[in-house]
Amino acid sequence: MGKVLVIGAGGVGTVVVHKMASLPEVFTDIMLASRTKSKCDAIARKIGGDRVKTAQVDADNVPQLVALIRTFKPDIVVNVALPYQDLTIMDACLETETSYLDTANYEPRDEARFEYKWQWAYRERFRDAGITAILGCGFDPGVTSVFTAYAAKHHFDEIHYLDIVDCNAGEHGKAFATNFNPEINIREVTQKGKYFENGQWIETEPHEIHKPLTYPGIGPKESYLIYHEELESLVKNFPTLKRARFWMTFGQEYLTHLRVIQNIGMAGIDPILYEGHEIVPIQFLKAVLPNPGDLGKDYKGWTSIGCRIRGVKGGKEKTYYIYNNCSHEVAYAETGTQAVSYTTGVPAMIGAMMYLKKLWKKPGVFNVEEFDPDPFMDALNQHGLPWNEIHDADLEL
Ligand code: NDP
Repeated sequence: MGKVLVIGAGGVGTVVVHKMASLPEVFTDIMLASRTKSKCDAIARKIGGDRVKTAQVDADNVPQLVALIRTFKPDIVVNVALPYQDLTIMDACLETETSYLDTANYEPRDEARFEYKWQWAYRERFRDAGITAILGCGFDPGVTSVFTAYAAKHHFDEIHYLDIVDCNAGEHGKAFATNFNPEINIREVTQKGKYFENGQWIETEPHEIHKPLTYPGIGPKESYLIYHEELESLVKNFPTLKRARFWMTFGQEYLTHLRVIQNIGMAGIDPILYEGHEIVPIQFLKAVLPNPGDLGKDYKGWTSIGCRIRGVKGGKEKTYYIYNNCSHEVAYAETGTQAVSYTTGVPAMIGAMMYLKKLWKKPGVFNVEEFDPDPFMDALNQHGLPWNEIHDADLEL
């Protein structure tokens, strides 16, 4: 059916190509390219059967990307490198008239800001070139956005209150580790909190608002209000929303480590001079922390991520909770990665499949909730991320 170029050979890239390789009728040709080619080769070897070609590319370098795309000629480029590379990869896609998909919005390196404005600025150019950009197609953003679109389409006349709840109840046995790229992860969780209410964004101190929430099959976990990028597009695409918030669980041990890391300046993103070299503290920290890709072997327990929604249907108030629970051990047995990489990589594969099947193909730049949720929801059930619904229960929020 189609050719796909995947950029980024980390935990998420590993899952994306594993899943693609198991669907030869959809992904006829797969190339995995990244900064370090040996990592691509190791993943391709593990998958076997000559299913995955590999290449070296510096995704900060547009001419290199253009040359690679011109040689391989993919139908779509799946960007699972880092958010810093979003714009250069989009530039290369424009130059070669190739469609694009990612799982995280662009972030400038020198500023921990989570905004779609840089990528939304490509809308007209992608539309005029007749190519598609699918933004935020991991789990959150991604599945949570599709869950919201599905709820709005099938279960509500209007959605009013949205709470996205993200619980990782897994244990990896390390004193401190992050579940995906440490630099990106720490930048995200140490920023100020922010939520949307009555047409305004309200800012909080980091982790200021928290409460225990009960996750299905897991139980109560302290959950912290943080800002998360999908809130920005969801409140635009669902203008009936009166309030939209995002909650994530953190253990006390994790928060204590994080506080120390911040207090001693190791989460800093500004370069400092060390023995004559400029180093960025958070990048140095990444180098000494456990590699998220290596956590899978000993990871036990579950993630549970979903949307708790209140609104009206047929003139009556209604509540709805839709979620997926994913086992770290099952994810590891299938792909050699833990559930956080798995729950991001599977939706990225499905998004690329939606594009190749022409179900999510239109010229322009779109967040995932702007496409028909139904075929994506079916694919989640078929490809390892089944979902559950609870109607008219107490949402706790
Ligand atoms: P990793 O750090 O494990 O992997 C990133 C990969 O990108 C590495 O292989 C790295 O190369 C490569 N890379 C970095 N810079 C470049 C460059 N300039 N050129 C080419 N390759 C480069 O990250 P993860 O796999 O954990 O995460 C991947 C993406 O997924 C991130 O953008 C993250 O924000 C996103 N994500 C999204 C989630 C969601 O639910 N939406 C959840 C979790 C993650 P090298 O190996 O040489 O370092």
